[in-house]
Amino acid sequence: MLRFAGALLTVFLTALLPGANAQEAKPLPHEDERYKADIMVVVAHPDDEAAVTPYLARALDEHRRIAVVFGTRGGSGSNEAGAEQAAALGDVREIEARSALETLGINNVWFLSGKDTATQDVLVSLGNWDHGETLEQLVRLVRLTRPEVVLTFLPGTFIGEDHGDHQACGVLATEAFDLAGDPTVFPEQVAGPVKRLPFENLRPWQVKKIYYFPDADREDIFRGKGPSYSVKEVSKLSGKPYWRMALDAFRAHQTQAKSYLDRIAQMDEAQIEKMATSEDGWGEDQHYVLGKSVVGGSLSGDIFEGITPGAVAFARAEIAPEPARPDLSIELGGPWSFYAEFRRAHGLTNLPHPEPPEIALQGPGSLVIPLWIRNRTAKAQEITISATLPAGWTAENGTGKFTVAAKQTAASRVEVNLPAPAEKPSDKTPKKAEPQEVTVRAEANGQVIGEAKLRVELRKRALPQ
Ligand SMILES: [Zn+2]
Repeated sequence: MLRFAGALLTVFLTALLPGANAQEAKPLPHEDERYKADIMVVVAHPDDEAAVTPYLARALDEHRRIAVVFGTRGGSGSNEAGAEQAAALGDVREIEARSALETLGINNVWFLSGKDTATQDVLVSLGNWDHGETLEQLVRLVRLTRPEVVLTFLPGTFIGEDHGDHQACGVLATEAFDLAGDPTVFPEQVAGPVKRLPFENLRPWQVKKIYYFPDADREDIFRGKGPSYSVKEVSKLSGKPYWRMALDAFRAHQTQAKSYLDRIAQMDEAQIEKMATSEDGWGEDQHYVLGKSVVGGSLSGDIFEGITPGAVAFARAEIAPEPARPDLSIELGGPWSFYAEFRRAHGLTNLPHPEPPEIALQGPGSLVIPLWIRNRTAKAQEITISATLPAGWTAENGTGKFTVAAKQTAASRVEVNLPAPAEKPSDKTPKKAEPQEVTVRAEANGQVIGEAKLRVELRKRALPQ
């Protein structure tokens, strides 16, 4: 009887003590599995996803979960399908991008607050995108979707479309790769909920690999830097070739490609295949460049080689040492010096980049050559800047004698007038013009202290520098 009373008392006390019925553990909320991604694609504009949709169609065969992030909603450019422009066009293009990806069965699609910026200069795009804000947004999305792999545009400048916005999303994605796993970066995102502020309750996430695709014309310097995938293999899921699934998805982009899509609508299957898989379309193979991996795997192995399920520890980026410079030196500034520092800061030592650097520009027009002139000596130095230019090109300003104060790095620039590209009226399919070399030379005390070289291709049309 006494023992029974004791048992009763225990039950009574258990009911009174908060948390004492711990054998029935209450589950704490965990990450929402509906948003877990294996692949995060980071591109700039609606329709840029077409650069990777043939690979995404293959990845869907492999049951990969895919998230896509656009940097802008695509409010600039002309509208082939209607009268809407600017912000209204952005509203339309957001839906077109979502519809395109929905065709493939991809619904986890997000947009950063970047604004279309039509130049070749990544720094102009990053400035116009509110770099800090869009980086915070992308780090949040990495922590929300926890991707194994990120695919994005190659951060670099090349002869080609060379769109600053494409480069900007490659820069942001690389930064997010290195930052999302760091609990001290945007720590409010990874704080647990408190009463005063609605913290986000995300967790740090280290992405395992990052791969790039270039929007450059030449392919030679990207070959062998990562895996290649045929666009012509047939999908197990749909029974169609991957390029055909990509084209079906692309049909949503009426405001950007109505005339192209209308032409395709008049063609038979053989003509469609010829057009869609031509040089200007999806080609034979799609090449990727391995940026970095924190889980090993070979350079040209499959994108998922070396990846196993589960989180990996935060991997702080290894910073390469600063290059040695003489006391007096000159180098290209602007995006060129930025990318040299960027590759070093993010451990992207194997990232291909043309040497000498290159750019395609519209002619007639102008070329601006940004320069850093460094003086590490203890006295002011007189520097003479001269330019060696192709015939018909003229230096507008920026050459002559300049003084750089002691222990100072000065920004300068040489501006060059560009003629129209050479006409080849006899040739029906004109060959691509060969880039021409421009050399800026700096001299001090009668000695050459350095040269900055640039290869420039003149075109009838190119994005502004
Ligand atoms: Zn684009």
